[in-house]
Amino acid sequence: MTLKLTRRFICQLFVRRFASNDSSITPIDPNKDLTIKKPSEISTKKRAFTLINPQTVHQIKRIDDVPIQNEMDFIRHRLTEKRVKNIPIETDILIIGGAIKGSAIAFFLKQRAPDLKVTILERDWNYTTSSTVLSAGGLRQQFALEENIQMSIYGAEFLKHIRDHLSILDNDPVPVSFHHNGYLLCGSEKSVKLFEENYQTQTSLGAKLKLLTPNMLKKQFPWLNTDGIEIGCFGVQNEGWLDPWALLTAFRQKALSLGVLYLNAELVGFDKVKRVWADGTIENQMDKALILSAEDNRIYPMDATFVINAAGPWAGEVAKMAGIGVSDQYPVALPVEPR
Ligand SMILES: Cc1cc2nc3c(=O)[nH]c(=O)nc-3n(C[C@H](O)[C@H](O)[C@H](O)COP(=O)(O)OP(=O)(O)OC[C@H]3O[C@@H](n4cnc5c(N)ncnc54)[C@H](O)[C@@H]3O)c2cc1C
Repeated sequence: MTLKLTRRFICQLFVRRFASNDSSITPIDPNKDLTIKKPSEISTKKRAFTLINPQTVHQIKRIDDVPIQNEMDFIRHRLTEKRVKNIPIETDILIIGGAIKGSAIAFFLKQRAPDLKVTILERDWNYTTSSTVLSAGGLRQQFALEENIQMSIYGAEFLKHIRDHLSILDNDPVPVSFHHNGYLLCGSEKSVKLFEENYQTQTSLGAKLKLLTPNMLKKQFPWLNTDGIEIGCFGVQNEGWLDPWALLTAFRQKALSLGVLYLNAELVGFDKVKRVWADGTIENQMDKALILSAEDNRIYPMDATFVINAAGPWAGEVAKMAGIGVSDQYPVALPVEPR
């Protein structure tokens, strides 16, 4: 059955539905219109995107010293139809990025639909550069945007019941060491109105906070220099910090126990097909995800019904691979870049 392409954006995530005539792997013609720019276009100024992380190409070149000039060569050289044991031909959900968001998404999906085939690609098994492990692990309710406040309140509730959510059989999850110390935000005279407005929004949604005058601040925090401070807001419940590595491990272990497949692999592009509909309209559709396995450095095509972009700071790059922000069909880019 041919599925028409749909798309939904959820914060940094995009979910993409693939078009596919059947689930079997068909040989990929390296000359057909891949999403990879053709060599002639690569050096021109019009080159709008890099589908393969240049770092990856560089590393591979070093490994086997093949004459790889550009992304196209790289794909041709590496593409294989032969399967290694652990890489499936197809999956229902393909998640790019296996850190906190990818792992949490996989967990929630498997909880609601246990039969769903969920595959995660994570190129860095040690998570050395993922924001998750670099993060301070702070949780606060003090935001202006309702969605952020609601997410924080939900997160605090989740952590309170983490055993119910992330235990595996009778084993408690890895302790995430949540410290219930509130955040204290302070403001000058010109911020008083904003603090009061935010406080109304936050508490109306269930946030547990206390507004403090300078005198109250001095009493509660005697070490604080309150010169120039006119207002403070302190989180009395549901705020603090935790160990992000431990939380990632807990989510990952739980997701694994529910049958999620983690692959040490990198999404390097998409195989693209042009479809001509009965009314003559031409649509570029994603056919297969191209996956570079860290096990053997080969690229495997994979069919997926949905692709979820949980690549953190690299989400913009992954979106470009899918044509987002670089094609007439989807001209608006995902404004996320690693710094
Ligand atoms: C210094 C710092 C402090 C922070 N402090 C806080 C805080 O106190 N509180 C808070 O709530 N948030 C904080 N954050 C933000 C928070 O860490 C991030 O929002 C969150 O960790 C993002 O998780 P993620 O899974 O989306 O991204 P990441 O953790 O960055 O994971 C993305 C993963 O995708 C993988 N990946 C990328 N591209 C590909 C590809 N093509 N193929 C396969 N895998 C790929 C990467 O290897 C990476 O592991 C902080 C962030 C930083 C950097």
